[in-house]
Order: sequence, then structure tokens, then C-alpha cells
Amino acid sequence: MSVDILVNPEKGAIYVNGFRVLLRHAYIFQSMKREMERLVGASAGFLFHKAGKDASLIVPVENGSLESSVESLTWLGLGKYTLKKENKNRIIVEARETPFSTGFVKKFGKRKTPFCHYIAGVLEGLAERSTRRKSRCVEISCVTRGDDKCRFSIEIEDSPSNWDFDEKPHPKQSGNLVPYGGVKLDTNKGFYMLKGWPELIVPSSFYFTIREEGKKIMGDSITGIISLSASEWYKKVSKLLQLYIFILKEFTTFSTKRKMWQKFLDQYYSRIWGFGIAKIITMDKNEIIVRLFNSGFAETYIEKGVKTSKPVCDAVRGYMMGWGNLFFGEECSTEETKCIAMGDEFCEFVIRKS
Ligand SMILES: [Zn+2]
Ligand SMILES: [Zn+2]
Repeated sequence: MSVDILVNPEKGAIYVNGFRVLLRHAYIFQSMKREMERLVGASAGFLFHKAGKDASLIVPVENGSLESSVESLTWLGLGKYTLKKENKNRIIVEARETPFSTGFVKKFGKRKTPFCHYIAGVLEGLAERSTRRKSRCVEISCVTRGDDKCRFSIEIEDSPSNWDFDEKPHPKQSGNLVPYGGVKLDTNKGFYMLKGWPELIVPSSFYFTIREEGKKIMGDSITGIISLSASEWYKKVSKLLQLYIFILKEFTTFSTKRKMWQKFLDQYYSRIWGFGIAKIITMDKNEIIVRLFNSGFAETYIEKGVKTSKPVCDAVRGYMMGWGNLFFGEECSTEETKCIAMGDEFCEFVIRKS
């Protein structure tokens, strides 16, 4: 098992085998993908499949062993898998649940088609890199359809892979190999659990792929979907947090609120989720300004040298909107006014009562 997870609290960053990663709530991806399906149908599945295949690059394939790399997925919070080789060209991989299928039926009801395209993409990537042959992975049964397990079928062709993957080791990062504060790996399920909710690790490049490829099929709607799926989390999932904010709102002074929120940002954004370092700059009864340094959502843009004219940290904007709504007790507008992907020194979010 060679998954090397490092947390660097000074950068607010987490690295897996040298790749910048983010820890994200599983349900965010479920609602994000459902929204995309509503808009563009099956293309959403292809998009998540592609993002999964790219994401597989953070898992090393040692001695060409697919078994050991599939085992490593547990350490990314992607679930726990068993592998059955049917013949030299066909492998079945199964899991009792994946981050995409867990809790799905209860929340959204049964669906007709499999949902875990991201996992199929990850498995396809691992198969292709370990065999160096063209591979194809599809999910053949899925818990979201009411099946007992999620099952993936990997077909390995005889022809060599033409996927242009770069197997060079990523530069080592500094940091401490520490357990996430408050996060525990449930080794039975293969998920990270944070206050009872499943979380998983995705590479920072996930957001680049989803956003940039998503734009090609659904235009700017993709930015709204990414940000809404993050803000919805506050509305629907986190009742506990709402109570906490209610107490803050009713019984404390503004400066206490600010301190408590800052503490939350230090702990969750920087040490648990790996978003970067967030600082509250202004906070009064009409406006909140938060700066985010070293945004994990913009990292891939910087790495690839892709400069944009628009900000890219839609997920953080969504979170900020969620916070703003809770703090002000009414709908508010949130804008990312500066972004490191546009060449700014930091990302900046302005939350206003609307
Ligand atoms: Zn599934
Ligand atoms: Zn940004």
C-alpha cells in the first residue's frame, strides 16, 4: 500500500503521492452529477468517467499490479473493492458501496442506470496503466439501482494503450503525515468519515477537468452547478451546523462570530479539506470579505499555465454563499472578485446581503 498522505497546514494543502488533493463531501458529487445529468443527460457520465480516469494518476501502479492499486483506493476514501479475474481479458471489481452510491437511494430514490462513472473511470485508468493495454471499464450493476453491489467490468484489449499518461513521479512535498483532524478512515467501507458524513479524496485536477470539459457541453451552467452543489450542502445536510450558526447569530456579538468562523476556516479549510488558507478580511452586518490563499481549486490552472479571465473557485463561492445565508438569515449574493487563476495574488470572495 503506497498511498502517502501529507497535510501541510501552512499551505492549507493536502498531498497524495505528491499530487495536491482535496477532501470533499461525497453527497456534493452526487448532487453535482445529478444536476449535470438533468441538463445534458448521459454526457455527464462520460465527463465523470474522464475525470475519474485522470484522477487515477495519483495512485501508483507498482510492479504492474492492478490488485494492489485497487486496494489503495480505500486510502483515498473511494470505497473498498474486491477483484475477480474472469479470464486474461476480463476482470470484475465489486464494492458494497461507493462514495457515489452510498445513501443515494434514501436521498434521491432508485434510478434506472448505474451512477458511479467516476469509479469506472478510476478503475479503467488503473487497468490501462498496469497492463499498458487499451482497457474499458463499465459499471454493470449499481447500488443506486437497488442492486446489492456496485460491479464494474474491465475489458482489457490486446492492443497497446494510446493514453498519453505521464508516469513520472510527482515532486515530493513537505508536510506531516498526520491523521485528518476529526476525520477517520472507516476501513470497512473505505470512506473517510467526518461527523458521520462520508468524504473522499479527489485530486485538485478534478475541478479543472469537470469545469473545463463541462463548459464544452453545457457552457457556463457548469460553474453554477459546481457552486450550487456546495451551497446546497449547507442547506440540506448540515442541520447541526445550522443550529450552531443560529446560536451564534442570536446570542453572540459580531466579533465572537467572526472569531468562531475564522476558527472553522483554519480547521476545516486548511487542515481537513485542503482548500488553502482562508482569512476573513471584513465582516459587518451587510458584507463579508474572505481571502483564500493557495486555492486548491485553482491549483491545476497554475500548474498547467492556463490563465483565465474569470475566477474558477466556484465550489468555494458556493460554500461562502451557504455561510452568508446562514449568517445573514436571508439570501445573499456571493462573488469571487479575485482569483489566482486570473493572475491575482489570492482569491477573494465578497458576500453581500441582497
Ligand atoms: Zn454504483
Ligand atoms: Zn480562485
